[in-house]
Amino acid sequence: MYDIRDFRSDTVTRPTIEMREIFIDAAVGDDVFNDDPSVHQLQDRVASMLGKEAALFVPSGTMSNLIGIMLSCRPGDELLCEGNSHIFHYEQGGYAQIAGVAIRTIETGDGVVTVPHLEQLGVRPDDIHYPRTRLVTLENTHNRGGGKITPLETITEVCDWAHERGLRTHLDGARIWNTHLATGIELSRLAEPFDTVNVCFSKGLGAPVGSIISGSHEDIQQARRFRKVLGGGMRQAGILAAAATYALDNHLDGMIADHMNATRLAEVAAEIEHLSLPLGMPETNIVLFDVDPGWGTAGDLVQKLASVGVLMLAIGPQRVRAVTHLDLTSEDTEVAIEAIRGAMA
Ligand SMILES: *Cc1c(COP(=O)(O)O)cnc(C)c1O
Repeated sequence: MYDIRDFRSDTVTRPTIEMREIFIDAAVGDDVFNDDPSVHQLQDRVASMLGKEAALFVPSGTMSNLIGIMLSCRPGDELLCEGNSHIFHYEQGGYAQIAGVAIRTIETGDGVVTVPHLEQLGVRPDDIHYPRTRLVTLENTHNRGGGKITPLETITEVCDWAHERGLRTHLDGARIWNTHLATGIELSRLAEPFDTVNVCFSKGLGAPVGSIISGSHEDIQQARRFRKVLGGGMRQAGILAAAATYALDNHLDGMIADHMNATRLAEVAAEIEHLSLPLGMPETNIVLFDVDPGWGTAGDLVQKLASVGVLMLAIGPQRVRAVTHLDLTSEDTEVAIEAIRGAMA
C-alpha cells in the first residue's frame, strides 16, 4: 500500500543494476590463495587512499575491528574506548569473548574522545595486578553520537597521547567517508595518525558486503592469519571487491546528498513540538531525535511511522535514529517529514 522508505540504517541499500552488472564481469581468483585480482585491486587502492602500506578485505566491520584489536592486544591486555562506541556496544564484546582483552570506557556524550578524557582513564602502571593498557580506539564518524565528526586536530592529539605512552591506536572508520566529505580533509590525513584503520563499504557507499583493515605490511600479514581463523577467508571474493571498487568510483562523491537530506530532516524535527535534537544538528548522515515522554516513547513514534511506510529505529526509550543513504532521495526525505508531522500531531 505504502512505498517503503527505509531510514533505519545506511546498510539497507540494495546494489544498483549497474553494480549488479559489475558482479558479472568481475575478474576473480581464490583469495585464500591470495590470487584474486579484484581483491588485490581494491586492497591496493584503499591502502593508498588511507596512506597505509597494506590492506586486507574482510567480510564485515565487526571482523575488521576485532582483527584491529587482535593486532595490538594479546589476552590480558586492555583497550580504552568511548562508552558508546560500536566496538563496545554492538560487537558482542568480541574483544573479550574472542580476543581475551579487557576494556575501559569513557563517556563523552557526543562520541568525541579528547586527551582530557583519556587522562581520566590513564594508562595502568606496570604491576602484576593489572591488565596491560595497550590500545586506544576512536570512531569517526560516531554512530551512536549521531554521525559526529572527530576533528583532525583532536585525532592527532589523542594519537600522540597514546603513542607517547607506548600504546597503539585503531580507528573504527566505518563511516570515515562521511568525515572526509563533510570536512574536505583527505582520507590519508584522517587515517595517518592510526596504526590500524577499519573502513566499511556496506554503509553509505552502498556495496553489499565488505570492509577493509589497513596498516603496516607486518600487521596485514598477521591480519591474514586472524581473518582465516575467524572464518573470514573468502574464495572468489573478487565479486564483492569489484562492487566495493565500483562504489568508490561512483557513489562516494554523491554521499554528500545524504548529509543534506539529514540536515533537512533534523531542521524540521527540531521545530516539531515534543521532538528535540539531543546532540544538535547532524554533521553527516545520522539524525538522532528524542521524543518527549509526555507524548509517548520512541517505540510509539517508530510504530506510527512504520504504519505509513517510513522506517526508523528506536535506539533508546525516547531516542529515534534516522539515517540517510543512497536509496533515499530528497523527495523521500519530504515524505518522512510529513509522516513525522502526521504521527506527532
Ligand atoms: C556498522 C558499523 C561497524 C561494522 O558493522 P558490520 O555490520 O559488522 O559490518 C563498525 N563500526 C561502526 C561505527 C559501524 O557503524
